[in-house]
Amino acid sequence: MKKVYTIGRYFRKKFGFDVYKVPLSIAGFTCPNIDGTVAKGGCTFCLNESFSPNLAEKTARKFYLHPDNPENPLLQKQLEQVRWQYEATRARLHGKYGVEHFLAYFQSFTNTYAPLETLKALYEEALRRPGCIGLSIGTRSDSVSDEILDYLADLSKSHEIWVEYGIQSVYDETLEKINRGHDSANVETWIRKTREKGLKVCGHVIFGLPGETEEMMLETVRSSIEWGIDAIKIHPLYVVKNTALAADYLKGRFTPIDEATYIRLLVESVKMLPRNIAIQRVTAGINDDTLLAPEWCRCKHTQMKHIRQALKEAGYLY
Ligand code: SF4
Repeated sequence: MKKVYTIGRYFRKKFGFDVYKVPLSIAGFTCPNIDGTVAKGGCTFCLNESFSPNLAEKTARKFYLHPDNPENPLLQKQLEQVRWQYEATRARLHGKYGVEHFLAYFQSFTNTYAPLETLKALYEEALRRPGCIGLSIGTRSDSVSDEILDYLADLSKSHEIWVEYGIQSVYDETLEKINRGHDSANVETWIRKTREKGLKVCGHVIFGLPGETEEMMLETVRSSIEWGIDAIKIHPLYVVKNTALAADYLKGRFTPIDEATYIRLLVESVKMLPRNIAIQRVTAGINDDTLLAPEWCRCKHTQMKHIRQALKEAGYLY
């Protein structure tokens, strides 16, 4: 039985100990696909204030960061958020698993979409936290620059630094359908550049995007491997209420991927991955009343049971 090269196994092999990610969600970050810089409304599956009256009310008149605006009245609050969010999760993970080493994971929205001085302050605050050995930064390929990557490359001389890009699909017609706001060539260019600068790259891929065939989904994995990613996250597209995708679903214009197909494609993807590419995520779901469909995405525990079983049948230990 072959062991799937999970990100946990990558960390244990590299450092000799476990490393867990500590997700951070910092106020004031937004996304060029939401604020009108490249598009409005965001990706069709993204829950943001464009389609959610409640969120719009909550976020009305709030300040948002923009790379071209050096102003940041929220900085002290953001630094405080880094400290308390990190500490709360660090203490919980340490208590539960005894783990002592962490990556600060800048997760929500586009975490390089801010003035460089703000990014430096937040990243370095995170790196000063106890047990923090590095960063994982979720972003879009149209929201990085040579200046940001050079700065991160410098940090990577003494820390473990990952940049996480949303690839989603390598097909431009799909990216247009989901209102992604950039094309596939842009993602390829910046993934290759990020790797050339010595940084680690994780690519996010979604199965079940509108209009995609099974072959298209597998081709996205194939191309991502060729572009040089170090790790991959794969998940099914599920429909959240108050999104553009929800409107399509309710009008019968979108059918979510079924669990059996998703798992079959996932197993095919695992077989395709070379030994040096780690898997960071094999599914996703949401167990609250914001989930509209598919129902199988509600229970992560059941999904994982089925995925482990399918992988086992294919000769892989997850
Ligand atoms: S890139 Fe991310 S934050 Fe921006 S609209 Fe798409 S899903 Fe939402």
